[in-house]
Amino acid sequence: MPLPLPTVTFPDGKAVPALGLGTWHMGESRRDAAAEIRAIQAGIDCGMTLIDTAEMYANGGAETVTGEAIKGRRDDVFIVSKVMPSNASRQGTIAACEASLKRLGTDHIDLYLLHWPGRHPLGKTVEAFEDLRKSGKIARWGVSNFDSIAMRQLSALPGGKNCAANQVLYNLSTRGVEFDLLPWMSEQAMPLMAYSPLDEGRLMRHPGLGKMAGRAGITPAQLALAFLLARENVIAIPKSSNPQRVAENRASAEIALTDEQIAELNQLFPPPRSRQPLQMI
Ligand code: NDP
Repeated sequence: MPLPLPTVTFPDGKAVPALGLGTWHMGESRRDAAAEIRAIQAGIDCGMTLIDTAEMYANGGAETVTGEAIKGRRDDVFIVSKVMPSNASRQGTIAACEASLKRLGTDHIDLYLLHWPGRHPLGKTVEAFEDLRKSGKIARWGVSNFDSIAMRQLSALPGGKNCAANQVLYNLSTRGVEFDLLPWMSEQAMPLMAYSPLDEGRLMRHPGLGKMAGRAGITPAQLALAFLLARENVIAIPKSSNPQRVAENRASAEIALTDEQIAELNQLFPPPRSRQPLQMI
């Protein structure tokens, strides 16, 4: 039996696994849907019950695939979805959420995010999020691709302190958030969701990481995920449409990095020494 996954707790006390499942690029072709559904279900079966999706992915196709994968087991999973900034007006956010609920085949989303800062006034998006929360269509809300300045501005808005999470690009190759954003969010007890934790697959081709993983008898993906899982308050959401890789990623939670390994990772991928602009995909 694998060890249970470590958990991360939202400000309202809800705990979720620190390792979830991404869905970007799923739902793009009906031909691949069955395999994608199997991969999501394999993840849920081994405890990766947090599923990250968005209305943007495959124009709703990833939400549809997610909905099919969770059929009959809605209560076992924690669904994260996102509204596109172009839809994030007061009314547009509510309409987008209702369309997402339909595609997901559920009556509520556990965490609903603004995908990135856009042209609609943030205060209006927050009002819509609060309405959706009060009506039970979402359990909590947050943002994505917000840097530490944008987070402070959000926090100063009416209702802004109810923000439950911020999802940002964070992996061994992109560590800027460690300088200011992650410490600030940890102070607020607000989880940081690390997207593209494998740098969209590029980390698997990093020679230094490959050598280090080989010496430890693990894979580069497992080493990259173990690095994120060693951090408090971070939820990593690797995407794989392949059940074997999902199992491989799940096994990263069994790895306890030694001080020597952490030092070697810091040599290969130096931590930030100053504030850096937030990178995004
Ligand atoms: P990831 O860093 O998760 O990398 C995914 C790639 O790595 C895929 O090509 C996958 O291929 C491959 N892969 C996964 N596991 C392994 C493994 N063990 N060995 C070898 N290759 C592997 O990239 P994503 O950009 O998908 O990020 C993860 C999730 O974060 C997204 O799916 C999405 O849900 C979210 N996201 C959010 C963004 C935002 O703006 N909020 C932006 C980008 C992503 P295969 O499927 O063939 O296994």
